[in-house]
Amino acid sequence: MSDEGELLRCMWCHEEFRRPSPIGRTPRYCKPSHRQRAKEGRKTDRAVSAAITRVTAGPASISARPETKGGRKGGAVPVAEEPLALW
Ligand SMILES: [Zn+2]
Repeated sequence: MSDEGELLRCMWCHEEFRRPSPIGRTPRYCKPSHRQRAKEGRKTDRAVSAAITRVTAGPASISARPETKGGRKGGAVPVAEEPLALW
């Protein structure tokens, strides 16, 4: 009950996992697919925030929504629910 492998934490799902092999560099993800997803997730994230920036930067949201602040990054806030001006 000792050295089965270093206990690590996946950067993607935050699960703990045993380091499969002491050789090589320290893995950051419990499986290759999580590493892949983290990579793709970052790309998607950028695309999404770019889209959000485009929407929230509109003149309508600035004048009509004074309570909208820049610090909303929780991810649980539905963005596309308010009726936007049709253009
Ligand atoms: Zn994982």
